[in-house]
Formats: sequence, structure tokens, C-alpha cells
Amino acid sequence: MSKLECEVCKILKIDSHLLNGNRNVIHKNTLYKILKGKTLDIYLCTFHDIELFQLGESNFLKQNIEFSKYIHKKFTPKKDRFDDLL
Ligand SMILES: [Zn+2]
Repeated sequence: MSKLECEVCKILKIDSHLLNGNRNVIHKNTLYKILKGKTLDIYLCTFHDIELFQLGESNFLKQNIEFSKYIHKKFTPKKDRFDDLL
């Protein structure tokens, strides 16, 4: 992958450039609550980086629920899924 892109924008099919304009910078972040017992490193655009900072992780995951569901399904074996978060 030569060019980093925001994983939330990608999954939610948001136009990252439109959302951020020329100030778009990709930031590496770590999510602590989305996966049971482990952290997840993700890349976020400026908009989503600020949103994560302002809302906190729990509210950010609720705000971007389709992203949360996608990550949850991707990384959690069926038997370990905890649907109360979503
Ligand atoms: Zn984004």
C-alpha cells in the first residue's frame, strides 16, 4: 500500500478528500475497546482523528456504527462476539 487512507472513510464509503480538503493528514490511532482483549491500530483522516478525540472511543464507535460492525466481524470469531457493544 503506497498511500495511506482513512479506514473509517474507506469502510463508510466517505470521500476523505471532500471531508477534509487539503488539510487531510492520516494519523495512526489505537482503539482499545473495539476488540476483546487486544488493541487495534487504525489510520484515520484529520476529521475522524478529531472526532475520535472529541467523542472518546465508545461514542466514536457508536457514531460510526457501520465501521464498528465491520471491524468487529473482521476480527472476532463468531463465538467470541459480544453484541452488547453494538
Ligand atoms: Zn476519515
